Amino acid sequence: MEDRDGFIWLDGKWTAWREAKVHVLTHTLHYGLGVFEGIRAYKTDKGTAVFKLQEHTDRLFRSAHIMNMPMPFSKDEINQAQCEAVSKNGLDSAYIRSMCFYGSEGMGLRADNLKVHVMVAAWAWGAYLGDDSIEKGIRIRTSSYVRNHHNSTMCKAKANGNYINSILALQEARANGYDEALMLDHEGFAAEGSAENLFIVRNGKIYTPETTSALEGITRDTVMTIAREQGYEVIEKRITRDEIYVADEAFFTGSAAEVTPIRELDNRLIGSGSRGPVTEKLQSLYFDYVKDGRPEHKDWLTYV
Ligand code: PMP
Repeated sequence: MEDRDGFIWLDGKWTAWREAKVHVLTHTLHYGLGVFEGIRAYKTDKGTAVFKLQEHTDRLFRSAHIMNMPMPFSKDEINQAQCEAVSKNGLDSAYIRSMCFYGSEGMGLRADNLKVHVMVAAWAWGAYLGDDSIEKGIRIRTSSYVRNHHNSTMCKAKANGNYINSILALQEARANGYDEALMLDHEGFAAEGSAENLFIVRNGKIYTPETTSALEGITRDTVMTIAREQGYEVIEKRITRDEIYVADEAFFTGSAAEVTPIRELDNRLIGSGSRGPVTEKLQSLYFDYVKDGRPEHKDWLTYV
């Protein structure tokens, strides 16, 4: 990733991509305390637009607040950097990665007197779970790793260290021939994927786990809004893994994963074992909204 042309916003300055570096004694590198965002920008007929920019920036600030990291920039400055990361790198669609991390001013767990650094980069990134995933759906497996406990590393924060848990789960799933992991919470209920929120469809109703042990996904929120506008009942509740086995449809949501159908869990086909009609409808509406194909919810888009 590091050897390419382009610009990365680092602490308020546009830096040549190859020069945007940190020292090996960077605190966040050692202990994992940092917070970040992942946002998509899409090509539309009226130019490139970032989807739900403000919502992502707000969550970045909430994550920093949870982790007690003072933010050295305003939300407006971060918004502007995120938009410019797309335009300055000449991208018409992009994945934007912003991160706040502690510098190399000192070591140790007191983590005081450290500078908070902020970076924003953007690059082109296709379908997160593979090219076929959006149409054909993915195969997932229940993870042997328990999702982070909300009193352990704080599930409402999109915090760097939380992703050790995600990476272990995803690697385990992939090593066993699956595309993604289903992560259960400490009580054994479905929490989310390694980087996606979960939905199931049963008897025409849509269910999603409460966010006790899952990230408050922005795509989750978008899909819930779209589904309710279409007249579906959307219920947040505890979901067991066997409820997913017998669901008519299941899908994951995420800024990177977008709306990805799940066709199989633990070698049981879900419904017909292909993208279901409700998933397809919500997925197609989601792609319409992010690409500015519909008149409603124009406020979800920020042109770069
Ligand atoms: N859960 C986790 C753990 C994630 O990393 C993500 C991706 N940010 C999501 C859910 C989905 O969140 P969003 O829709 O805001 O991208």
